[in-house]
Amino acid sequence: MTTLVTLEDAKRQGLVRHFTGERCNHGHVAERYVKGNRCVECDRMWRSPNPHKAQKAVRVPRAPVMASASTSQGFSEPKPWEWDGGKRREPVLDIDRHPPVAVRHVGWRCCMRCAKPFFSVDVLAIRICDGCKGASTANLG
Ligand SMILES: [Zn+2]
Ligand SMILES: [Zn+2]
Repeated sequence: MTTLVTLEDAKRQGLVRHFTGERCNHGHVAERYVKGNRCVECDRMWRSPNPHKAQKAVRVPRAPVMASASTSQGFSEPKPWEWDGGKRREPVLDIDRHPPVAVRHVGWRCCMRCAKPFFSVDVLAIRICDGCKGASTANLG
């Protein structure tokens, strides 16, 4: 039970809050802060987080790079072209995004191991041909 404490008593006793039993402007019969004579219920209402706050957009994890170009969905995958000396690069676009975002680039490059040209589905990440990739994992395993 909340006991009546006048503002004067509260000040004298060094209390943070006092209670007069009177309703505040919003109809709360609640304690009031000595400082500012503010109703604690009103204060709580003001402090409560806004339920209408914009929610953060859910981050969709990036899809793993597909070994087979034809199976990827939601991506605009360029068709492999003839050997061009390893110069041409074509972006793979994530067409689910607006505007579409280039997620990786495909193109011909030379294998870092055997120097043979191969068509890489991710020129930044895949730098050795399938044959060397298989050989390296076999050696490591
Ligand atoms: Zn109030
Ligand atoms: Zn190779």
